[in-house]
Amino acid sequence: MTTILSTWKEPGRVAIEAAWQSRKAGADLRTTLEHGLTAAELDPKMIAIGLGSIPNADGELELDASMMDGRTLEAGAVCAVRGIVPVISVARRVMEKTPHVMLAADQARRFAIEEGFGPTNLMTAESCRLYSEWLANRELEKEYVHSLDKPSDTVTMLALEDGPHLVAASSTSGMAYKKPGRVGDSPIVGAGIYADDEVGAAGATGLGEELWKACASFRAVEQMRRGASPQEACDEVVAQMLRRQPRAAEMPCVVFALARDGSWGAAVTNGTFELWSCQDGQLDCRTYEATQAAAIM
Ligand code: ASP
Repeated sequence: MTTILSTWKEPGRVAIEAAWQSRKAGADLRTTLEHGLTAAELDPKMIAIGLGSIPNADGELELDASMMDGRTLEAGAVCAVRGIVPVISVARRVMEKTPHVMLAADQARRFAIEEGFGPTNLMTAESCRLYSEWLANRELEKEYVHSLDKPSDTVTMLALEDGPHLVAASSTSGMAYKKPGRVGDSPIVGAGIYADDEVGAAGATGLGEELWKACASFRAVEQMRRGASPQEACDEVVAQMLRRQPRAAEMPCVVFALARDGSWGAAVTNGTFELWSCQDGQLDCRTYEATQAAAIM
């Protein structure tokens, strides 16, 4: 049995369908998630991740991505990369071809180019239009529109196969109109993703600063290590965030987890969250609401 999870309705569907196609054709879990995220990164209609997503306050796309293998705890990540897609493939290469975990910004781009990735203009007509609109509003209001006012749609994916063996991966353009150079939780091992075959895997999406401070993914996996179900683990992480981090209540902060026994769960601090699942090709999308985690505070 192969179980794949993917965040958010629109980009999550593109990613999980591509991931399953790849898995059906015999891909291992790393490649399955790489292909899933690549499909969403390269789709210019997805204003979520990669090509054509929402730029930073300078009108430039700066992308973050990460992958972690639960068998070996190997991990690779890139952050604030400009002009390269798919960044999930660059993150995987950092894991497989260097002794490092993360490469940043221009030097990550240089590594990608050395690896054969071609520099690409990532802004589409639609992302330019959205940026101009944002810029005009900002000038109109004569005040800085805080970069955290609008999240983008990170795609974070978890996958499990018999063994059990798990891989986690994430790709994002980060917060919409973020301060140039800002990096969120998604490429940070333990914040945006975590995987350990001894226990399970977890991922995050939403307000990256708060998820990072909470070490949300690592904390969910450690809760499961102590015997919590994935749902209990996510509820506990979110409840603790709501208790200790006031900003976490202002915007959706999501953590979701997949245990080595194949069960999974998710929780969100505010609003609703959609999680796709695929069990041997059987697709489902479930909506999680903030009330459940708030109730156990
Ligand atoms: N977590 C991402 C970040 O803070 C954004 C998101 O998930 O929408 O960069």
